[in-house]
Amino acid sequence: MTTLATERVTDIHHWNERLFSFKTSRDTGLRFENGHFVMIGLPVEGKPLLRAYSIVSANYDEELEFLSIKVPDGPLTSRLQNINVGDEIFVSRKPTGTLVADHLLPGRNLYMFATGTGLAPFMSIVKDPEVYERFDRIILCHGVRYASELAYADFLTDELPQNAFFGEQVQEKLIYFPTVTREPFRNQGRLTDLLASGALFDAIGLPAPNKDDDRFMLCGSPGMLKDMTALLDERGFKESRNGYLGEYVIERAFVEK
Ligand SMILES: Cc1cc2nc3c(=O)[nH]c(=O)nc-3n(C[C@H](O)[C@H](O)[C@H](O)COP(=O)(O)OP(=O)(O)OC[C@H]3O[C@@H](n4cnc5c(N)ncnc54)[C@H](O)[C@@H]3O)c2cc1C
Repeated sequence: MTTLATERVTDIHHWNERLFSFKTSRDTGLRFENGHFVMIGLPVEGKPLLRAYSIVSANYDEELEFLSIKVPDGPLTSRLQNINVGDEIFVSRKPTGTLVADHLLPGRNLYMFATGTGLAPFMSIVKDPEVYERFDRIILCHGVRYASELAYADFLTDELPQNAFFGEQVQEKLIYFPTVTREPFRNQGRLTDLLASGALFDAIGLPAPNKDDDRFMLCGSPGMLKDMTALLDERGFKESRNGYLGEYVIERAFVEK
C-alpha cells in the first residue's frame, strides 16, 4: 500500500481572502485521534507537494475536513486555494501529533488556545464526546486579527450545542472565547495578554489556573507558542514530553521560514 491515499474534494468554503476550508472523501482504513494532523497535498511537476494539516473533522466523521490559510506565493496553498469540488488531493495514511488528551495529566479544566488556523485540531477535539467525560470545562480560545477569520464561530455557538448525542454536555461544559486584535469586537486583545493580565479568567468566570486543575493545549504561530509557553512555565506548568505526562501540550500551526 502506498503511503498516500488519493481523496476527492466534496465541499469548499471560503471564509475570507486569507482562509478557506474544504472536505474530502475519507479512506475507510484511515484511523486518527482527534487533534492529529496528516500530510496533504497536490501533484506539482509530477511529484506530490505535501504540507502538514490538522484534521478539523472528528475521528468518527465519514469525510475529512481541513482549514487552510491562503499564502499568496505559498508553494502549496497558492494552488490549493483554487481547488474545486471533484478534484483529487493526496492525504497521507499516517496521522500523528501531540494535541491529544491522553498526553495530559488528568485535570478539571481543559484550555485550548489557538491563533489563526491553529483552531483546526481543536475543532476535532470539541466534537469528541470523550473529552466532555474527561473534563468539567472545555475552554476554546481563538485569537485572530479580524472577525472574518473566526472560522466555525456559528457552528460552535449554534450547532454543536444542539448535537443530538452530546449537545447537553456541550451546553454545560464548552466555553467558546473568540478574541480579535485589529478591529472592534466583543472580546479584544492577544490571548497571551489576556492570560497574563488575568482578564480572560474574569471574562469567562473561572479562577486563575493552577497545576492541580488546569490543562492546556496550544496551537498557533511560532510567536504565540513562544510567549504562551513562557507564561505557563513561569506559573510552574510543565510540558508533556517524551512520554512523560504534563500539564500542557503544543503543536505548531506552521513553521516560520
Ligand atoms: C503540525 C502542523 C500542522 C499544520 N496544520 C495546518 C492547518 O491545519 N492549516 C493550515 O493552513 N496550515 C497548517 N500548517 C501549515 C502548513 O503545513 C503549510 O505551511 C501551509 O499550508 C502553507 O503552505 P505553503 O506551501 O503554501 O507555504 P509554506 O512555504 O509552507 O509557508 C510559507 C509561509 O507562510 C506562513 N504560513 C504557513 N502556514 C501558515 C498558517 N497556517 N497560518 C499563517 N501563516 C502561515 C509562514 O510564514 C510560512 O513560512 C501546519 C503546519 C504544521 C507543522
